[in-house]
Formats: sequence, structure tokens, C-alpha cells
Amino acid sequence: MTTTLYTCSFPRTSHKPQFHLSSSSSFPQNIKFPNNSPLKPTISFSISAVSTPIAEPSQSISSSNPSKTLPFRVGHGFDLHRLEPNYPLIVGGINIPHDRGCEAHSDGDVLLHCVVDAILGALGLPDIGQLFPDNDPKWKGAPSSVFIKEAVRLMDEAGYELGNLDATLILQRPKVSPHKEAIKANLSALLGADPSVVNLKAKTHEKVDSLGENKSIAAHTVVLLMKK
Ligand SMILES: [Zn+2]
Repeated sequence: MTTTLYTCSFPRTSHKPQFHLSSSSSFPQNIKFPNNSPLKPTISFSISAVSTPIAEPSQSISSSNPSKTLPFRVGHGFDLHRLEPNYPLIVGGINIPHDRGCEAHSDGDVLLHCVVDAILGALGLPDIGQLFPDNDPKWKGAPSSVFIKEAVRLMDEAGYELGNLDATLILQRPKVSPHKEAIKANLSALLGADPSVVNLKAKTHEKVDSLGENKSIAAHTVVLLMKK
């Protein structure tokens, strides 16, 4: 009888082994062995390794480098701006005729701001307010395309590209549908992405709260980044 007490082998990869312990006993319980017998009742164990991907060491490209290099990274962005008379309403870089617009330090582009935050979030970076503080005169009246381009640069630097993006605008008025394609085309161009991976939805806020009373505009964005 041959009994292997322990077997343990690790694949030569950078994967973290996980141990799965199993036991078996094929010995009837009522067999007696003399003390000097070479045959001993033995429970056999086998230990096998299962590969689970773990992070490669971070590449020292900059402080923007994600702590873990994952094949995919997901990020969420949210933004809201107050709507006031005598301001332009710029959404996704497109000037939309309306009786009011966003009062903001930059151009108040709620969609581009939350897209930036979604990308930064996916990269594990600080939010747009930390990277482009609204008390810095440099960003006063800045077109938000500047922030998008920086987010795309950081994404590229970290070794990622956009998988897809899904955004939802929330505003009571005006209707977004006549401008949807222009917004989507401009956003895709700013991201350097194919329009087929950029999706834009819009909805009202059912006349409830500041959004529904045409006093504010908000947007949510989810992005999936893929390792290049
Ligand atoms: Zn904003």
C-alpha cells in the first residue's frame, strides 16, 4: 500500500495559491494493527493550488499610477450644478439654448465634469475638485474639454483605454433629444473613443425638487476602462 501524505505543487506563475484541503480515509475503522506493524491507518490529505490573478507591481510611471493593475477598472461620476439666468447651458461641450445655465467656476459642463470624475474614479485618483480646484484662477471660465483631455491623458498614462461609457443627464428642461447626437459625437471625439461605446441618456426629475423645478441639472456616468 502506498499512501501519499501530502502533495503540494504550485504552478510557476505570479498567481497566488489558494489551498483546498481534502481528506479521505479508506480504512475500515475496526482493523487493529500491531504497534510494530509497518501498516498504519492513515488519513491522506491532498493540497492543490488554484491560481487566482493578483496585481502585478505598480509601474512607476507617476503618482497617478493605479495601485493595482487590473484588466478592467470601473468608475462612477456624479455632478450637479445650479441653474441661474444669464448663464450659458453647456452640456457635453454643446451650447444648448435655454433660459438659464450653470453658474460655475469653469463653464459648468455637468456632463463633462462627471465623465472626468468617472475616469478618475476608475483610475483610483482624486476627484475633479482636487485636481482642478475651483479656487484656482487658472480654471476660471475654463472649457471643461481641458479636464477631459487631462483625464484621458492620465488614463493613457496608466495604461488603460475606454471600454465603454454610459451617462445619464437629469434635467427638467429643455429637451435633450434634439442635441443628443451632437453631445454624443463631441464627447466621443474628446475621449478619442468610437461613438458606439459612448451612450447618453436623459430624463426629467418629474418636476420634483430643484432638478424638477429647473433650478439645477445633474448627471451620472459609469465608465469601464480596459487595460491596453
Ligand atoms: Zn461640475
